[in-house]
Amino acid sequence: MRTFWDELALYLRYLQAIGVEALPKRKSFERFLKLDLSPPPKNLEEVAKEIKNCTRCKLHRTRTHIVLGEGPEQTKLMFVGEAPGRDEDLEGRPFVGRAGKLLDQILETIGLRRAEVYITNVVKCRPPGNRNPEPDEIEACLPYLSKQIKIIHPRLICTLGLVAAQTILATTQPLARLRGKVHEREDFKVVVTYHPAFLLRYPSYKVQALEDLRLLKRLYQELE
Ligand code: SF4
Repeated sequence: MRTFWDELALYLRYLQAIGVEALPKRKSFERFLKLDLSPPPKNLEEVAKEIKNCTRCKLHRTRTHIVLGEGPEQTKLMFVGEAPGRDEDLEGRPFVGRAGKLLDQILETIGLRRAEVYITNVVKCRPPGNRNPEPDEIEACLPYLSKQIKIIHPRLICTLGLVAAQTILATTQPLARLRGKVHEREDFKVVVTYHPAFLLRYPSYKVQALEDLRLLKRLYQELE
């Protein structure tokens, strides 16, 4: 049965077919998810094939590996960070360095194993010198995250760090205003917390991160 969004996508294709070129500006990630008219891939393997030689943004020039993400296709919980770092770029896997070890500990704290959740980043190639990804790089890479979310269909997304939080929630608010609460979206709930790399630099923020994770754990348990 066709959903409302299928109907909307058909209508937008019709508008394009009759020459309407300007579609609504992508203001929110949720709208981006809904208005992405590209044919949905069937599984993550197809996304991996599609991204394999991606040159959509300048990050392709300096990357060693594309880091698409890791974890089961069937999961209710997805973690989204900012971008691969040096270790991730070298190994082609997300969160494998010191920050990754801390993420593993964080998951343990709430009784989860890495194998149970899907972990990815907003952009899939390492920004040089571990700088934050730039807006044009985020925009270029978002279709991949959109596809991952459509395939996995998580009920809960935990964003790690400011870039992920602002991208998923389509806001410019600071992280301190976004964390510590549940952001209800139509298809999923979002919990915002600090990036593990930030917690390595500023360990005193682990107390607040723990509060976020307790919130995440409660929501996750409610899903079961
Ligand atoms: S960051 Fe994303 S859009 Fe840019 S080259 Fe890598 S995969 Fe392509």
